[in-house]
Amino acid sequence: MQDPLYRKVVVKVGTNVITNSQGKLDLQILKELVSQVSELRNQGVEILLVSSGAVGAGRSIIGLPAGLSPVAARQVLSSTGQIRLINTYADLFEQHGLKTAQILVTKSDFRDRLHYLNIRTCLASLLDHEIIPVINENDAVSVTELMFTDNDELSGMIASMMHVDAYIILSHVDGLFDMSRKDSTPNVISTIDIATEHFHQYIKPGKSEFGRGGMLTKCHIAHKLARFGITVHIANGRTSGILLDILNGKKVGTRFTPQKPVYGRKRWIAHSEGLEKGAVTINAGAETALRSQERANSLLPVGIESVIGSFFKGDIIKICSENGKAIGYGMAQYSSEKTKELLGKKGEKPLIHYDYLYLMP
Ligand code: GLU
Repeated sequence: MQDPLYRKVVVKVGTNVITNSQGKLDLQILKELVSQVSELRNQGVEILLVSSGAVGAGRSIIGLPAGLSPVAARQVLSSTGQIRLINTYADLFEQHGLKTAQILVTKSDFRDRLHYLNIRTCLASLLDHEIIPVINENDAVSVTELMFTDNDELSGMIASMMHVDAYIILSHVDGLFDMSRKDSTPNVISTIDIATEHFHQYIKPGKSEFGRGGMLTKCHIAHKLARFGITVHIANGRTSGILLDILNGKKVGTRFTPQKPVYGRKRWIAHSEGLEKGAVTINAGAETALRSQERANSLLPVGIESVIGSFFKGDIIKICSENGKAIGYGMAQYSSEKTKELLGKKGEKPLIHYDYLYLMP
């Protein structure tokens, strides 16, 4: 094998990849994936594995009585299934002489920067010790509004947090199919250059496979990460040798071409949707200034029209345009009370410094 294309990657494995038609863990596929990850690890590639399958594995262990609430069912199934899942990984990696670690996170772990940095330090230390982190959502305790949409969202956050070279989503389909052409059988799109193309052009609205947690979410996350400078691949995890093929540069699945890298705090802030403590509405002039390509502008009180909710210094807040649409996120340099006092005033200190500001495209 030639030198692998990437030195550090996040590999996300979906439930559909590692469970069979009865919903049980598919040992053959797991063996095949673990053997590929091990081969790459032995070539020096740092790999963080985000694996779903806890709820699926739980389903094959226990049958739950009808009438149990969906939240309780998910809690019971995931907490029983996660043990089976992680033990299976640990045993399989051990056969290749590799150690594994289990990391379970919730969305609120990403809320404050200190906590975020703690997770990052932990994952970096595991990689330094050549241990494979196997990450999943802590489904037993993450309930309703503070849940990740799915593991695509979680793995995207890990990929940007760890500054990986590539983020590989293994699903049970071959990639993003071109649904825009009615005349022919759809083909997998091999490359999407986000500078010139948008994945929406290939998607036929209303197709069920693009529903929640489906290809549409994957493409949204892929697009976001490619904007940060991370190459993203969406490929079929059930295809033999798929990871080795991707790292060998073979044209498999769909590849999102990255743009210039964005580092640090801005990446953390970019993943703050749903974690904000409050919001500010800004006027059109301020929006134009923030979006300026020539200058890096911070958000000043003079451009703020109104303050929603209550926040303190260091909290993440949402930025809305005049019509109320969310246009970005940032870290407040002072409280909502102080912002109200300074509203519309000139020459005041920025509420959000440029380094702590993320604007949506
Ligand atoms: N955390 C869930 C599990 O392990 C999966 C969530 C998802 O499929 O995205 O079962």
